[in-house]
Amino acid sequence: MLGSLNTVVSEKIEISVGIDDTDSPKGMCTTYVMYRLIEKANTEGFKLVGMPRLVRLNPACPFKTRGNAALGADFILDYDKINKFKEILVDLIFDLAEINEKKTNPAFVIINKNDIDTNLVEFSRIAVKRIVNLNEALNLLKSKAIFAFGYNGPRGLIGALSAAAYDFPSGFTYELIAYRIKEMRGKKRLVDEMSVYEADIKTKGCTFDNVDQENKEIKITPHTPCPVLLGIRGLDPECVKKAFSIIKINEPIEGYIIYKTNQATDDHIIEVNSIKEIEPLTSVSIKGKVASMPALIKGGHVFVEITDGTDKIRIAAYEPTKNFRKVLINLRPGDFIQVWGSYKPKDNEPPTINLEKIRIISIAPYVKLLNPLCPICGTRMKSEGKGKGYQCPKCKYKTNSAEKVQELEKRNLVPGFYDVPARARRHLSKPSFLEVLKDERQS
Ligand SMILES: [Zn+2]
Repeated sequence: MLGSLNTVVSEKIEISVGIDDTDSPKGMCTTYVMYRLIEKANTEGFKLVGMPRLVRLNPACPFKTRGNAALGADFILDYDKINKFKEILVDLIFDLAEINEKKTNPAFVIINKNDIDTNLVEFSRIAVKRIVNLNEALNLLKSKAIFAFGYNGPRGLIGALSAAAYDFPSGFTYELIAYRIKEMRGKKRLVDEMSVYEADIKTKGCTFDNVDQENKEIKITPHTPCPVLLGIRGLDPECVKKAFSIIKINEPIEGYIIYKTNQATDDHIIEVNSIKEIEPLTSVSIKGKVASMPALIKGGHVFVEITDGTDKIRIAAYEPTKNFRKVLINLRPGDFIQVWGSYKPKDNEPPTINLEKIRIISIAPYVKLLNPLCPICGTRMKSEGKGKGYQCPKCKYKTNSAEKVQELEKRNLVPGFYDVPARARRHLSKPSFLEVLKDERQS
């Protein structure tokens, strides 16, 4: 006699969850909602598959939230527990999200992992590079989602759907995020600054952007009253854990989690071959020749024009990029460069690429036109006004026959990559030390 064959084997399902836009300037952070979901799911016996995803969406999108992050994760659970899973998630969002903030559109999506097809993956890739169509998102949700909710409007659903399906086509990095206990939120973060520099040095090459060495700024601690104590960025999970173990934290923490992320991958960049291909509200990489002298304007912003041979566009290094601006100041017409940056059209401003990174490919000889030297004493003469000749400021010799002289400028720039400092770097922008010289052959 065999034993009873009546045991019920529940069918398993693998789901993909996406969450977006639960944060606001006042506090919450969407990564914390995911952290809590994973914790709660674990106590319910829902198994997390792989690592949770922190997906940064198009930084040039005008509807974006702070940081424009959406969160995704995959779980295996019994098919009949899906409702329970959804309830946990809804409770967390109502408990944690800034539902009453009009500009916050908290959203979540639950999809059967098997229903993630190329259409959905393509949609998620577009959300990182371009502006996606809300109707397209809603149609995909209708045909794909097991559950989907968008509060205060549907906009958050775009990010939630993207994070559920994202496949990291440009590679990935990691971020360890540690969370504060409730009592500490809004108070000064008690993280020992010296130990952050120490961790940075001891994990050099496999962590990045955790301090801005040049401007002596700690980058791991946010400045908002959110639950995030610190975030450490790196190239592998062990490395961010090592940095975390070195950093001295003088307050209790609730816990930490490591996310797989598209940060520092240039995932948002569209490579274009001509200026006319540049679409508004995208970030691009383009090669071109410098077409104007640099202009330093009030406020400390620097602008230069570049050309692809047909059209011209302005490139900009704004004041917060500090020393990066010197690279632009030293550009001269004829220099051949590659730039990375976003294009967000503004009224009353010529089309401008807001630079994230620049590569000097070759430097052109630049001839300056100078006033002639005084034939008597050798001092550089002064112009008396247009067509009025020159006068020597020292011996007062005057002439109407002298002309400007050409002189080859000694250039203060060498070919190579130049980055904005860590303090001004976008989440998605790849620091040049991670840059693969894939187009070396073309230059
Ligand atoms: Zn003289």
